[in-house]
Amino acid sequence: MSTLVIKDLHVEIDGKEILKGVNLTINTNEIHAIMGPNGTGKSTLASAIMGHPKYEVTSGTVELDGENVLEMEVDERAQAGLFLAMQYPSEIAGVTNADFLRSAINARREEGDEISLMKFIRELDKNMAYLEMHEDMAQRYLNEGFSGGEKKRNEILQLMMIKPKFAILDEIDSGLDIDALKVVSKGINAMRGEGFGCLMITHYQRLLNYITPDHVHVMMQGRVVKSGGAELAQRLEAEGYDWIKRELGIEE
Ligand code: ADP
Ligand code: MG
Ligand code: MG
Repeated sequence: MSTLVIKDLHVEIDGKEILKGVNLTINTNEIHAIMGPNGTGKSTLASAIMGHPKYEVTSGTVELDGENVLEMEVDERAQAGLFLAMQYPSEIAGVTNADFLRSAINARREEGDEISLMKFIRELDKNMAYLEMHEDMAQRYLNEGFSGGEKKRNEILQLMMIKPKFAILDEIDSGLDIDALKVVSKGINAMRGEGFGCLMITHYQRLLNYITPDHVHVMMQGRVVKSGGAELAQRLEAEGYDWIKRELGIEE
C-alpha cells in the first residue's frame, strides 16, 4: 500500500494566501472526491501537489510514502508515481501521443528495464479499444487539435498506460457529453485497485454517479471543511453548499 499525506498545506499565489491549511490522506485502493464552490482552491491544491512554479507552498507538507514530494522536481514527482490531469492540458509540439506515452512509461522504469516495443503496442491497442478511441490518435501530435473530449479520453489513456500510484484529476468531467463521460469513468473504474489511489476534483456530482467515491471532501475558502462518504456528494447535489456554511458558521 502507498499513502499520499497532505498536512496543513498553505499555498500562496502572487503573495495571496489561497490554501489555508489543507489536510488530506489518500491511500492506494481508495478513490477520493473533492467538491466545493468555484474559487475555493481545488485546482490550486492540484497544482501545488504537482509543483507548478506559480503556486508557492509557504508551510505544510506533502509526502508520498514518507518521501517529501515538495522537494522533488516536477518530473521526479511523476517518476515517484504521481499523475496530474490538468484542467487545461497543453499541446506539445512535434511529439506524437505514442512517443509521449512510451517515454512516460520508461521514465518510471529502471534503465535496462524499458518496456519492449511489442508489449507497448499491445497495451496501447488494448487500452485504446477499451476507451473507444480512434487508432489515429496514437500517431497524432500530443493534444494538437484534440477536441475537449478527445483530450480527456487521452488523459485516461495516459493513466491506464502509465499506471501511476496516485492520480489527481481536476475536472476531468468538464465539457464531456454523456457518452464521453461514461468512457472516461469506465477507464478510471478499471484502474481501481490495490496499486492505485485517486483524487478527483469536481464541481458537479454527475461524475460521481459513474465512479462511486470511497471518500468525499468539501473544500471551502482554502480548507477541507467536511469529509464523508458517497452520501455526502448526494446531499450536496440535492441541497447545495449552504447547509455546510450554516453548520460551520462560514460567511460568504
Ligand atoms: P477552484 O478550482 O476551486 O475553482 P482555484 O484554485 O482555481 O479554485 O482558485 C482559487 C483562488 O485562487 C481564486 O481566487 C483564483 O482567482 C485564484 N487563482 C487561482 N489560480 C491563479 C493564478 N494562476 N493566478 C492568480 N490567481 C489565481
Ligand atoms: Mg474553478
Ligand atoms: Mg478548479
